[in-house]
Amino acid sequence: MKITFLGTGTSMGVPVIGCKCAVCLSKNEKDKRLRTSALIESNGETFLIDTTPDFREQMLKYDVNKLSAILFTHAHRDHVAGLDDVRAYNFILKQDVYAYGSNITLQGIEKMFPYIFEENKYPGVPEVNFIEIENKPFEVAKHTFTPIQVMHYKLPVQGFRLGDLTYITDANYISDAEKEKIRGSKVLVLNALRKEKHISHFTLQEAIDLVNELEIETAFFTHISHQLGKHADITAELPPNIHLAYDGLVVDI
Ligand SMILES: [Zn+2]
Ligand SMILES: [Zn+2]
Ligand SMILES: [Zn+2]
Repeated sequence: MKITFLGTGTSMGVPVIGCKCAVCLSKNEKDKRLRTSALIESNGETFLIDTTPDFREQMLKYDVNKLSAILFTHAHRDHVAGLDDVRAYNFILKQDVYAYGSNITLQGIEKMFPYIFEENKYPGVPEVNFIEIENKPFEVAKHTFTPIQVMHYKLPVQGFRLGDLTYITDANYISDAEKEKIRGSKVLVLNALRKEKHISHFTLQEAIDLVNELEIETAFFTHISHQLGKHADITAELPPNIHLAYDGLVVDI
């Protein structure tokens, strides 16, 4: 199994339009972050986490020709705005796209993309089979995913565990019961927005503390703001088992 980080930036991406801070002006490719998304490849299947506003660019850049399923974490714009472009997979693969999400997430997507849910659709709109998940393991293409329900201020968000990998974005609180589902993962992907406190995201220190608490072997932080600092500077501050993810990073698990 391997995970490819398609995007590791917070909702506005990095650089931020018009911003002249040192991070946004950095020439380092690792300081250029599309919106947060990842591709998990396992046994010939391809699972995409979220369809960001950069979805089309991400699929082209990483030459993703197959989509077994999309797993949605939540219905914030920076995680779903690219959904319309899944039409390309309808054309190429000549089949519907399958998308999984919680009841709240699917309701949010329906509000944003009502035309995808209409019964008599305009020709050419995306053909998506939405499948509602509960907070218990579910199977997709012979793979068992365990949802991890985390809190993003007041919004429940789904993390996902597949074998030794757990992927969590947009959280600032995880209950003890949900933490138990993460325990034992070899690789944990976790959101870490910036150093200053935030109402709905873990800070860098809160993310480090959680990795230590759960005794995770290797962790990668994502959903990063330009306010966090330059990739190289922050990397130098981190313990050896914790890394800042960057766009294009591939991790074999
Ligand atoms: Zn987000
Ligand atoms: Zn900036
Ligand atoms: Zn969010």
